[in-house]
Amino acid sequence: MACFITRKPIATSAIPKHYDLVLEPDLDKAVFSGSVAILLDVVEVTSLISLNVYDLEILCTEINSLSHYSDPIRISNISYDAERQTMTISLGLPLAARTQAKLAFVFRGKLNDNLVGFYRSRYQDADGETKVLATTQMEPTEARRVFPCFDEPALKAEFSIRLVADKHLTCLSNMGIAEETEVKVVSEGDLQVTGTAKKAVKFNRTPPMSTYLLAFVVGELQYVESNLFWVPLRVYAAKRKDMNMDTARFSLELAIKALQFYETKFGVAYPLPKLDMIAIPDFPAGAMENWGLITYRESDLLFDETGGSMSDKLRTAITVQHEIAHMWFGNLVTMNFWDGLWLKEGFATWMSYYACDHIFPDWKVWEQFIAEQLQVALSLDSLRSSHSVEMPIQSESEIGQIFDAISYLKGSSLVRMIHSYLGEGDFMAGVQHYLKKYAYANTTTMDLWESLGLASGKDVMTMMDILTRQVGHPVVTVIVSEDSIVIRQDRFLRTRDPLLEEAAMLYPVPFNILSINGPNGVLHDTSFAEREVTIKVEGFVKLNAGHTGLYRTCYSAEYLQKLAEEAGKGGILGVEDRAGLIADAAVLASSGYQKTSDFLQLLTNFSHESQYVVWDIIIIHLGAILRAWIFENQRTQDGLQSFVRRLIGTKASELGWNLADSGHAEKKLKTLLFCAAGVTGDPAIVNASKQMLFEFSRNQSVIDANLRPHVFRIALENGGSDEYDVVLNEYLTAKTSPERNTALQSLGYARDANLVQRTLQLALSKDVRDQDVQFAISFLQVHRTGTEALWQWLQVNWNNLSVRFSSRPLGNIIKACTAGLSTRDQLKSVRAFFDAKDTTLIKMPLAQALESLAVQCDWVERDRSDVAAFIENLSPLDQ
Ligand SMILES: [Zn+2]
Repeated sequence: MACFITRKPIATSAIPKHYDLVLEPDLDKAVFSGSVAILLDVVEVTSLISLNVYDLEILCTEINSLSHYSDPIRISNISYDAERQTMTISLGLPLAARTQAKLAFVFRGKLNDNLVGFYRSRYQDADGETKVLATTQMEPTEARRVFPCFDEPALKAEFSIRLVADKHLTCLSNMGIAEETEVKVVSEGDLQVTGTAKKAVKFNRTPPMSTYLLAFVVGELQYVESNLFWVPLRVYAAKRKDMNMDTARFSLELAIKALQFYETKFGVAYPLPKLDMIAIPDFPAGAMENWGLITYRESDLLFDETGGSMSDKLRTAITVQHEIAHMWFGNLVTMNFWDGLWLKEGFATWMSYYACDHIFPDWKVWEQFIAEQLQVALSLDSLRSSHSVEMPIQSESEIGQIFDAISYLKGSSLVRMIHSYLGEGDFMAGVQHYLKKYAYANTTTMDLWESLGLASGKDVMTMMDILTRQVGHPVVTVIVSEDSIVIRQDRFLRTRDPLLEEAAMLYPVPFNILSINGPNGVLHDTSFAEREVTIKVEGFVKLNAGHTGLYRTCYSAEYLQKLAEEAGKGGILGVEDRAGLIADAAVLASSGYQKTSDFLQLLTNFSHESQYVVWDIIIIHLGAILRAWIFENQRTQDGLQSFVRRLIGTKASELGWNLADSGHAEKKLKTLLFCAAGVTGDPAIVNASKQMLFEFSRNQSVIDANLRPHVFRIALENGGSDEYDVVLNEYLTAKTSPERNTALQSLGYARDANLVQRTLQLALSKDVRDQDVQFAISFLQVHRTGTEALWQWLQVNWNNLSVRFSSRPLGNIIKACTAGLSTRDQLKSVRAFFDAKDTTLIKMPLAQALESLAVQCDWVERDRSDVAAFIENLSPLDQ
């Protein structure tokens, strides 16, 4: 068991119980003023009070003891700690234990443009005039930029909030409005008469909640609403140009279903008297689960049912269901501190798929989870620079860096594993126990394991404690003989260079062994935590049935071929097993456990595959090989392209790309194969794409929304500035956010050096919002010119980028700018560049980017001649 350093919370002697907060934003001047009075329970005698404050101008500080009517207590000193973002108030007289005190501040701050704390978002209204709205993003540690507070999740308190604003603006917060009054203008947070009339909107008092879940929005807003759930639901958006509020209906109706579903599953009513969801034009993430007022990026909340694509619909649905799950998991019951971030994120991610599978069963989202989310999690987790799911936090600067695939996706994969291990009934009984027992309070991960253990009677704690606190996952090597199999586990590192302590790691892993002789195909769910075990079993065997376990399975090359032949026939291997088998083989090849040629050979068994998810995973991994080889000789690259075209050609031409009469699954498969065939140069698809794009400039309905990103890509990869201008124009004029995003991302596919420069310039121009910069550059890494230009661009613009972006988007930008590199010289160049920079805020994503790049270099060097020989040996028919 890993050793954790115990962290001291910011407040132990005087605990906040209630905040009376007034905020008055000035949208034009980009400032806000405020006052706050914090009621404290003094639990032990103290003359020092520390709380969080950052980037605020404190105009007045006062503290009163409530035990007797006295004057304010004299403050002998106030000191600030910039690194910890705290202020410490020293009192002339100590506060007595078991009394109450009131701590009050008057303060001023800037409405910033950096998408943190209280910030501005801009948009154009119906008349083309630029308008501003003020909104908040408090998670993880930004509430302290808005008002002085005890900014830690465990220090829950009740909040009474008042917002003061111009009368024509809408004011929203976590709770519904208690009262709206007219006030004369306010200065420095105190209500003082100076002339102009404004409104003061007082909201109902919140239940006990964490500061990171507070939210305030002030602006010209519009909404659609529903009263079909037992509390009122609204979806808001800015009154911006081209905003069609019909696009808010999908999320509104989905919210009703999700709330009803969660109430039934959790056995706990929705905890607040209203729920608002709002689309914000500038937003740092996908969405934020502020209690009762969920904020979203526009593209993740508003969906056009008449013209949107299936993938946009899925993303919107998953995001909405994720955020609504947080209303219970995270908001009602909250982690003690950020080292338990995964607890809410892993669970809400799992829950969003669970709800989606219930509400949209034909989408088969769990299959997609295995092909995509689980693979992304395992991919990051196979680096030495990964982190444990539950991660000790040593400093404030580390908090922003753990909002990554480990917390969200490995976390949700672990929840999926434990759900499968315990079974639906026991799992949900445990979750209900947990939510009821800890409502309005805080927990550690152990509390969840305890509830699940109680409900199931199984020892959940021992297994899950190691899996959440120990970094990484194992590779399981299987040696098959006549009547038994020998299974051995080792820490899986893509660098294949475990240190002594890494080599000693063991993971408790439940193995579902799939066997022809087992009941219903599954032999039994054995769990083992030893280095090596032997299991008696005859005949055909495959580990990790259904791919619920978090590990890679390594078979001998010969046995893998046998399994692939079996898989190619359909038979006993289900979709998850086929997809998982291919993913494992691909990753083991790229890490040197197997040969890349063996993986390519294995794929030849799948040319008649019928399922989308299996093709998805094949194409993802073939894409990874093609990208890793972009700096290799042209003959090998051409050979690889041709291999892919041949592999998918039969199925692609059998299906075609007319989506009109296809069902959900067939549409997805047709779209996927259309793209893969086009990208590898299928002449019919290339010509059709160019033609469709040409017609698109006159009639947009000519391209089905599902095909649109792929048509853009293929036409841009095979075109020039004419094609580029059509897509750029679409970006600048499209009416919906997903349409704009599709066009913006697609521009990166254009390979001509001048067009690459235009894309890079566009990324930092006023035409791209900060929230979208990472989209603008994301696809340059799939070709050589783009990859090289991207790395140059990062170096040239580093000073600007590192100031403009917080650690999370900056980490993503670094990964996007280095992911395409694959030579030793490039690795040296990246290392040398960052060696000379302050990397405190990006330590973890940078280490991950560097390690991924090293793995990619090793892979290409190791298998260069193996892949070349495989290509040379293909029969002309195969090429
Ligand atoms: Zn979340």
